[in-house]
Amino acid sequence: MPHLAGGRLVINLSALAANYRLLAERSTPAQAAAVVKADAYGLGLAPVARTLWAAGCRRFFVALPHEGLAMRDILPEAEIFVFNGLFGSEAAVAYRAGRLIPVLNAQSDLSIWEAYGWDDGETPRPCAIHVETGMNRLGLTPERARTLAEENALTRALTPVLVMSHLACADTPDHPMNRRQLESFQALRTLFPETETSLANSAGIFLGGGFLCNVTRPGIALYGGAPVSGAANPMQPVVTAEARVSQVKQVRAGDTVSYGATPLARDTIIAVASTGYADGYHRAASGGGVPLRNLSNGASGFIHGHEAPVLGRVTMDLTLFDVTALGPDAVAVGDHVELFGPNMPINTVAEAAGTIAYELLTSLGPRYHREYVGGGEE
Ligand SMILES: *Cc1c(COP(=O)(O)O)cnc(C)c1O
Repeated sequence: MPHLAGGRLVINLSALAANYRLLAERSTPAQAAAVVKADAYGLGLAPVARTLWAAGCRRFFVALPHEGLAMRDILPEAEIFVFNGLFGSEAAVAYRAGRLIPVLNAQSDLSIWEAYGWDDGETPRPCAIHVETGMNRLGLTPERARTLAEENALTRALTPVLVMSHLACADTPDHPMNRRQLESFQALRTLFPETETSLANSAGIFLGGGFLCNVTRPGIALYGGAPVSGAANPMQPVVTAEARVSQVKQVRAGDTVSYGATPLARDTIIAVASTGYADGYHRAASGGGVPLRNLSNGASGFIHGHEAPVLGRVTMDLTLFDVTALGPDAVAVGDHVELFGPNMPINTVAEAAGTIAYELLTSLGPRYHREYVGGGEE
């Protein structure tokens, strides 16, 4: 119920489709897949997946098996990969039921999949092989990958359909790590000469060239986040997050605001908005002068053509915005403050809160009213 919610999210599915098309074009000659883990970065798995499918995407990545099963219900024909590997032999049953393709990251994954993987007759025990090139998060060591390749050439126990690795510093194009990882990956991919390859996340697509491989794996850029730090963002904003103004008040210089009593330097008009850290509007976005953070400025909202800085501490359910610049009577109860969206870039807000767009999107709470616009035109 929009009139009962403290805030609303407008999710623009045409912008999402346009972002997919741009990333697919930038990925050429590789095919662009889509990463839809964590409920499509908080935007809602079903509408996002259907929109991407309509825009031509056929391969999807999730993090967890239950996310894969949810995807299977939404898109019966899609190729669905699960990043975090097999959790045990019981999980293999879910992979079979959902025709999910595990990304095998460790020896235990390999053994389980050899014993319990599904076999449709054409591709016995299909899997992606994740090779370690520098993240040291998940992935087979180069030695283990080599042994696997040798053994599997004889036994054909597994059908590797993708060999992949993950870049640690792709959003910093000049970082020497990028070239190092590419070189390691190029050496390891030769172990699986018949298998398609994948290295690039969103940022990796913008490194171009050899980083593209056969399949790219964009996530954040689909959802409007800037793929490359410090560069202009070529993506369209997909999410507009807004909070309802619950009260407007005038407060005098010397008075204080919010928890911790931050003093005001001048007479101030305050819009009290119904959003807070329980809605993923991070406490670290609190206003300048709040001694709980090292950054000098807090975040700002945007209302009626003006930026409105956060005043004092962000609280669980409420945040104070400085609307003095708009003049008296400009803001009314029931108006909405844009937290991020077309007028207030998500990356700017993330930076002010000492975090990244990924975290803002995936921590948007369940209290927003969600509205999807621009779908169904494909
Ligand atoms: C999350 C993830 C991606 C997507 O990364 P973005 O930076 O959001 O484009 C790609 N590959 C792996 C292994 C991931 O975990």
